[in-house]
Amino acid sequence: MSGLQRQSRFERGEDVVVMKFGGTSVEDAPAIQRLIGIVKSRLGVQPVVVVSALAKVTDQLLEAGNAASKGNLGAALATVRNIYVRHEELADSLLSASAYGSLDRELRGEFQALESVLQGLEISRHFDRKAQDRLLSFGECFSSTLVSWAMNEAELPAAHVDARTCIITDARHGQANPLWDVTNQRLRDRLSPILQSGNVPVLGGFIASTLDGVPSTLGRGGSDFSAAIVAAAIGASRVEIWTDVDGVMTTDPKLCSEARVIRKLSFEEAADLAHFGAKVLHPATVAPAMRENIPVHVLNSRRPEGHGTEITARASMGIGVSAITAKRDVVVLEIQSQRGVDAALLNTVFGVLEQHTCTVDVMGTSVDRISVLVASNLALPKIVDDLRRVADVSWENHKALVCLVGENIRRQPEVASRVFATISDMDVRVLCQGASERTLSFLVDESKADESVRRLHSAFFPRMEPSRDWGGISSAFCQAG
Ligand code: ASP
Ligand code: MG
Repeated sequence: MSGLQRQSRFERGEDVVVMKFGGTSVEDAPAIQRLIGIVKSRLGVQPVVVVSALAKVTDQLLEAGNAASKGNLGAALATVRNIYVRHEELADSLLSASAYGSLDRELRGEFQALESVLQGLEISRHFDRKAQDRLLSFGECFSSTLVSWAMNEAELPAAHVDARTCIITDARHGQANPLWDVTNQRLRDRLSPILQSGNVPVLGGFIASTLDGVPSTLGRGGSDFSAAIVAAAIGASRVEIWTDVDGVMTTDPKLCSEARVIRKLSFEEAADLAHFGAKVLHPATVAPAMRENIPVHVLNSRRPEGHGTEITARASMGIGVSAITAKRDVVVLEIQSQRGVDAALLNTVFGVLEQHTCTVDVMGTSVDRISVLVASNLALPKIVDDLRRVADVSWENHKALVCLVGENIRRQPEVASRVFATISDMDVRVLCQGASERTLSFLVDESKADESVRRLHSAFFPRMEPSRDWGGISSAFCQAG
């Protein structure tokens, strides 16, 4: 056999595809069987699998943590017991008796560790973000362990990799940022030998750890981001986000039955959409893919033959608007200063927002006033108090930011006039084109958000005959798992 033949596909530089499966794509035995079928269909390339926790588990763990830290350990343990039984039942239906025995021993150990974390919370009564990350990371540990066993059982050789040993972040618990150099190095060191031996690495998404080995997480919905981090580190040729909707849609199909799948989006459009409230992709996902120019495909694990949405560097050639979103629960902060708006004031405003981990959606300034739109936040009264030390501040909540996103908006001034015409009878404030010129957004009362989206969607995406591609889509634009 020649040297070349002995090399694995990975060593020959063949394509690696990172496939991320969300919570609903691993929620039960049929879902995991489908996952295995989809991964097998990619064996012509080299798959790397990233999985979320089983659907609902992250919320249940959070609930258990809250209960334990309020002294209700009984309720917390009961919740965890249900999670355990669910994993056990899945293992039982997916594995042979001997594999089940080994996995059961592993899972039991993990669940005991989880129970002692809850006992610790009952004593300390302190459930901060660091403690939350520790607790939530169990969900993805369980799911990735289970999925790798199920893959091996189905003769799909898999190797479980604890993502906490390779994705290394800062200590911003709850929304940690990767330390890129060490993460890239560790991912390459850990995944290369597995790929070289022709096996499929399986990692939990969302979870990571700090340099000191303390568990951290990448923010809710962060498994998408994990997939992009892995893909960028190992030079993958494609990221696939497997979810329970047919792709990224023109708007929330729960609001508009005529919403349809967007075939192609640019990285920038996808980032804007995620930023403005479309939860189908975690907002940070796009950056590493864009940096390494790796296409991202959003696909439906219940309908794997669908074309999904392809996100690449190429701009879409659409009609100007690619999608319409609404971000609810937005607060407007009006900051007025007699001395005028200068760099020092801006600096203070951003400093205060940063200190309270409050992200800005949109900002506008004039000579003596700064308007900032932020997501509603428990720390708002504190933020307002802090800002009142330097300026007059007023705020209004229950607003919604309706946003049109499209690479071609900038080339089509008629988009803005059509928006005005469509919602001319509504009380609309702060109409603004984003600095990227790819977005046009405005503020309405939350109660008017749905109607604005519906009207704009009919104006920009006139009804089409239902086709095979987007007929019958009824699941969520915003709650893909
Ligand atoms: N399981 C985590 C969550 O529910 C991460 C994810 O699913 O992407 O947020
Ligand atoms: Mg998600």
